[in-house]
Order: sequence, then structure tokens, then C-alpha cells
Amino acid sequence: MNPFAYSRATDPTQAVTAISGKPHSKFLGGGTNLIDLMKMGVETPNELVDINRLSLAQIEELPDKRVRIGALARNSDVAEHELIKTRYPMLSQALLSGASPQLRNMATVGGNLLQRTRCYYFYDPAFPACNKRKPGSGCGALDGYNRIHAILGQSEQCIATHPSDMCVALAALDAIVRVVGPNGEREIGFRDFHRLPGNTPDRDANLASDELIIAVDLPAMPFAARSHYLKVRDRASYAFALVSVAAALDLDANKNIKDARVALGGVAHKPWRANAAEKKLIGQEANEKTFQSAAEAELAAAKGYKYNSYKIELAKRSIARTLNIVAEMTS
Ligand SMILES: Cc1cc2nc3c(=O)[nH]c(=O)nc-3n(C[C@H](O)[C@H](O)[C@H](O)COP(=O)(O)OP(=O)(O)OC[C@H]3O[C@@H](n4cnc5c(N)ncnc54)[C@H](O)[C@@H]3O)c2cc1C
Repeated sequence: MNPFAYSRATDPTQAVTAISGKPHSKFLGGGTNLIDLMKMGVETPNELVDINRLSLAQIEELPDKRVRIGALARNSDVAEHELIKTRYPMLSQALLSGASPQLRNMATVGGNLLQRTRCYYFYDPAFPACNKRKPGSGCGALDGYNRIHAILGQSEQCIATHPSDMCVALAALDAIVRVVGPNGEREIGFRDFHRLPGNTPDRDANLASDELIIAVDLPAMPFAARSHYLKVRDRASYAFALVSVAAALDLDANKNIKDARVALGGVAHKPWRANAAEKKLIGQEANEKTFQSAAEAELAAAKGYKYNSYKIELAKRSIARTLNIVAEMTS
């Protein structure tokens, strides 16, 4: 590991000041991803600003019924919080499907949003070609072992996937990410927070290096109480998603779909909001045929590679299965 300086931030403004103008400095949350990457030589910051003592761990309902989750709330605390379990079950389930209890006790919401891809080529600095780790060096996964890689939104520069479970539920919920930087606070809609790879796969998010995530706001969305997160993976526990689906349905008394939210994980460089599927669902009867046609629509533009084409059919079936589960839930 490279030598690095360490300091503890006392408040958000001081944290931002400590890092401002220093692109090689990083905030330290739970450290469960950053420290691993530093040990492997993938990340080489020369300074860490520890934000763990900031008062940003609250989970609270706002007067307008939105729920605000502080950036330092631990993944386990969010998953087990009554407001989250009852109003946004897919978010609780997504969090509980990730990592292990010990990791969830350390991992923060801010760090989860900015965790890096699990692409093998990114994780191995001995491997020369990775545009995400070393811009301009190529993509080892394109013609390499790409079993866990993207089938939607990818570019010739990068076919890595975003690994987070939590973020898939946040994408379906249209969460808002609240950040503070040298010029004050701003809000970023979840759709605009993470990036597709394009020609700059080294950039995962639309966040400046000196911007601190302070909270995530969840909209008051009563129908999200009827939601589910499905994660398909190699092992039943302690494995990243090959494909995952977060879905919520707003149904009328006749089981017609008034509104729908669907997002996918494990298929793209960012949590993938399934706009085409949602369009097919709204106004239709909630049944197997509708769900299958929504899944077909979403995956129409998918492109597989040598080892990951299986994900296209897997994603279709996972969408239909999740929607079936949600439709069967009692509201
Ligand atoms: C063995 C293992 C298995 C795992 N399995 C899963 C899984 O199945 N599903 C899943 O979703 N995740 C999984 N994870 C990943 C885990 O969820 C992340 O490591 C964790 O969420 C990162 O949070 P952290 O607080 O530890 O972040 P850190 O490691 O501290 O930071 C990660 C990044 O975020 C930045 N950062 C942190 N907080 C802020 C902030 N407030 N503002 C701005 N920047 C910030 C840091 O500078 C760093 O770049 C696994 C991890 C491990 C080690």
C-alpha cells in the first residue's frame, strides 16, 4: 500500500475544505471498498479524510413524508429501520442481500453509492488493459472472461457493471442524492448520479472529487410498500448479483397497473432504470403476459459477449418473476 496522510473531519464544510483542490485525496467512509482497493494498488490516494465522526447517520421522516437517510448511516441500520422496512421493502431487501452482516455494519450509504466495479480486470493492476483503472489502456473484458459483465449501455471502452444492490432500489425509487462542495449544497437526481461508460469509464459518477455526499432522500411513494428485490447470484449469500431486479407496482382494485417502477442491477455500468419495461406495464392488467412483454421490451437492445449472453434471458425471467411476486403481495 502507498503511504498516505490521514486526518479526521469535524464537520462537512471542514471535510470539503480539507479535500478541495487535492484530486488525489479521498473521503474515508466504512473503508470496506476503498481500503481493499488501496491494499491492491488499484486506488492510490495520498491522503484520506475520515468522515466517520460527522453527524450524518440519521434516518428520519421529513414533514412532507419523504425519508432522509444520512450518508453515514450504516447499511445494516438502514435495512433494519422500521420506516425503510415498511415503506420501501425493496430497499431493505436489497441491502440485506449485499455482502455480510459484518460488512453491512461498517458500510455506509455514501460509500455504497461510490463503491467501484467488481470487474476482474479493474481489480488486477498487473493486468495492463483497463480503461477504468488506466484511461487509454484498453478493455481486457471485451475479448476476455466477461461472464459478470454488462449487457446494456456498455461502450467499446468498458463493459464493467455497477456492483451495488442498494443502488438498484434507489434507482427504482428515484432517490435524490444530496451533496455539499466548495460552492455549497446541491441535489442530484438518481438517474444522473451514476454514469454510463462512454469514452470516460474512469468516471463512475457525476460528482466532483471534493464533493461530499451528505444524504439520500427517498420520495414519499405509498405504492413502494408493494415492492420486492430479487437477486440472482452464484451463491445464496455473500456474492454479487449476476442480475437483480427492484420493482414496485401501483395496482387498482381490478389489478390494473396505475404506476410501475423497475430497475436492474448487474447488467450495466450504472443501476439500470427499466424505462421501456415501465412503459409497457402502465395501463395494463398485472398478469404473466404483461410482465413478459415488459421484460422483452427492456432487453430488446441488450448485447451479450462470449461468456455473458446468458444474462439476457436471465434478466427477462428475473423481471417477470419479480413483477409476479409484487403483484401477488397484499397491499
Ligand atoms: C467481500 C465483500 C462482499 C461484498 N458484497 C456486496 C454485495 O453483495 N452487494 C453490494 O451492494 N455490495 C457488496 N460489497 C460492497 C460494499 O457494499 C461496499 O464496500 C460498501 O458499501 C462501501 O461503503 P463504505 O462506507 O465502506 O465505503 P468506503 O470503502 O469507505 O468508500 C468507498 C468510496 O466512496 C467514497 N465515499 C465514502 N463516503 C463518501 C461520502 N459521504 N461522500 C463522498 N464520497 C464518499 C470513498 O472516498 C471511496 O471512494 C461487498 C464488499 C466486500 C468487501
